[in-house]
Amino acid sequence: MNVILFDVEALPGTVAASRRARLLVVDDQPINIRALHEVFSADHDVFMATNGAQALAFCQQTPPDLVLLDVVMPDMNGLEVCRALKADPETQSIPVIFVTSLDDPAEEAACWDAGGVDFITKPINALTVRNRVRAHLTLKQQSDLLRRMAWVDGLTGVANRRQFDERLEREWQRCRRSGQPLSAGIIDIDHFKAYNDTYGHLAGDDCLRQVAAAIERSLARPGDLVARTGGEEFTCLLPEIDLAGARVVVENVERAVRALGISHSASEHGTVTVSIGVATAQPDGEESAESLLNRADGGLYRAKRAGRARVRSDEDPSAAAG
Ligand code: GH3
Ligand code: MG
Ligand code: MG
Repeated sequence: MNVILFDVEALPGTVAASRRARLLVVDDQPINIRALHEVFSADHDVFMATNGAQALAFCQQTPPDLVLLDVVMPDMNGLEVCRALKADPETQSIPVIFVTSLDDPAEEAACWDAGGVDFITKPINALTVRNRVRAHLTLKQQSDLLRRMAWVDGLTGVANRRQFDERLEREWQRCRRSGQPLSAGIIDIDHFKAYNDTYGHLAGDDCLRQVAAAIERSLARPGDLVARTGGEEFTCLLPEIDLAGARVVVENVERAVRALGISHSASEHGTVTVSIGVATAQPDGEESAESLLNRADGGLYRAKRAGRARVRSDEDPSAAAG
């Protein structure tokens, strides 16, 4: 059996082995829904929708792990529902199994074309349906796990660089459209080489995990992201916030790390601290996302030069201390 080591709840639309799978049954005939409910209710949480619009709304709000979808329905048929699910990045990874009484090869082809992973025929055979669904849920679990491993830093559990790059691109475009600023903070642990040399690499790893968690706790808004973008460097992305606001956020991050109180005898501060560079851009075509990060890096350099354990932006005078 597959063993799931991670808690995959954090990613939208993922199945965690630790909970019952959520199935959505979509059929305009209540009697068909009842039949499927009987097959699955002992093993899974079964939700129902009696038309396409309801099904789509449900999937967008609370993505199920799998959808059993009737093909022939009035208004929006199953093929249209499936196409809509596959066109939306938020719902496209939800597997769809068509439930059909059709035995027309052209209709079957249409089900595959629409993005279905399988189909079962009415009247249903309970044993077959149960096993088909179990197989697809297992596949979903495994692909969720792979997806998570590809996007999350294995040591600390925060986003990895790949996820960061993807989000930066997306937030940049979004802020360009909305005319909102985009801020970034680069957070670097102070004297971390000396920390490893003093306490050992395993303690260093544990320190990285604690620092990552402290940063994550300090970022309150749902759109904020922190990623591990280097060995002992993290970058946070703060959409729709100006430099003054971003500064307040990263000052909190700096304090939160210091408040962990992790002893660091080789540092002039006595505990593990971070230096943070912060910058803000107005994504309007003048500047690139890369240059925003370069400016934040400039702030980091100033923070290090000014004595570490502090925040600087690239607009601060470079010699400033305190
Ligand atoms: P500064 O205050 O100027 O940032 O100095 P520093 O020592 O933190 O910077 P430097 O870049 O010289 O050293 C970074 C250290 O981070 C060196 C490396 O061994 C350590 N490091 C990088 N990745 C990991 C990791 O995954 N685990 C552990 N334990 N250490 C790591
Ligand atoms: Mg460092
Ligand atoms: Mg570094």
